[in-house]
Amino acid sequence: MSRRDDDRLDEARAIPIKEIADRLKIERLTPRGDELVAPCPVCGGKEDKLQINTLNNVFLCRAFGGGDGIGLVEHVLGCDFKEALTWLVGEGVVQLSDEEKAKRKAARDAEDRKRSKIAARKRAESIAMARAVWADGRPFAGSPAEDYLALRGIVLDAPPRALRYHPALRYMHKIDSQWTELHRGPAMLAGILAPNGDLIGVHRTWIDLSRPKGKAEIRHGETVLNAKKVLGSQKGGAIRLDPLPEASVLIMGEGIETTFTALIAKPFQSAHYWAGVSLDNMAGKMRKVKGKRHSGLPKMADENAFVPPHWVRRLVFLMDGDSEPKMTRAKLESGLRRAMALQPDLRGQIVHAGDGIDLNDLLLGAT
Ligand SMILES: [Zn+2]
Repeated sequence: MSRRDDDRLDEARAIPIKEIADRLKIERLTPRGDELVAPCPVCGGKEDKLQINTLNNVFLCRAFGGGDGIGLVEHVLGCDFKEALTWLVGEGVVQLSDEEKAKRKAARDAEDRKRSKIAARKRAESIAMARAVWADGRPFAGSPAEDYLALRGIVLDAPPRALRYHPALRYMHKIDSQWTELHRGPAMLAGILAPNGDLIGVHRTWIDLSRPKGKAEIRHGETVLNAKKVLGSQKGGAIRLDPLPEASVLIMGEGIETTFTALIAKPFQSAHYWAGVSLDNMAGKMRKVKGKRHSGLPKMADENAFVPPHWVRRLVFLMDGDSEPKMTRAKLESGLRRAMALQPDLRGQIVHAGDGIDLNDLLLGAT
């Protein structure tokens, strides 16, 4: 890239992503915390398919992947990097004096420092809240959380330490940027542990045992909200659903129910069963490859991605068929490739329940 292009790149990177989103005229952009969410103008989907983080100046399309403001232009306009740059800052030579360049760089660095400080503080606050909820939890054994799993066909010999029960957990939802309590009721808690074993987050499932699948129905107006939410962090973490046997096999699904379903089926004599919380956490970021929608190749620099512990020789990812299969498979492959690149004697494998089939539905005989 020429010096001229470098200057244009600096110029483009200095544009706040919110401004870029406005210029792209993305419809139905709605503020949610530090984010703006909208259906993706390219991939469609739900009201938060596209998430634009105005604090970190990045975006994530849950069907496509993410990137910076220039990447957003590429994705929305379907153009390449050079065209996106031109769209943002024009063709013209941007002539900046060295002094002006240094000034802009200093301003950007200061902005970056401020952003990462705010992000670190918010992360710490959120982890502290998660630990408080966890500390408030009751034993899982004999609780309605145990009955909830039984409704899903999951009956355990020994209750895992990763689960607890909360009799009256508050369900908070942001309405017009105001946190509002929409529901309060029983919930199953699952602890998310960092690689070093510290509790960094809590996965919560609000339950209602009178409903067929046991999940509470929480509404805001017409919209049915997700009865499962994560508080705190999940970065690189996992919900460890087993009592830590001696084993070198790690079986990992996205959700708790899916992973338990595999645990009950016992495909291996001895294995660990961990839930990865989200596909993005399990797989980490994928590399962009020109001409490919989903490259299946890991972005090795992603330091937030899950990495299996050193004792894992065989890593099995469980693939649910109820989300977009191509994207899901590519992400899982990317995650396995990351693990294999870091641990050359590790073997990776994907187990697929079948198109449109959730592994837990198989257990319930619903298909
Ligand atoms: Zn998209």
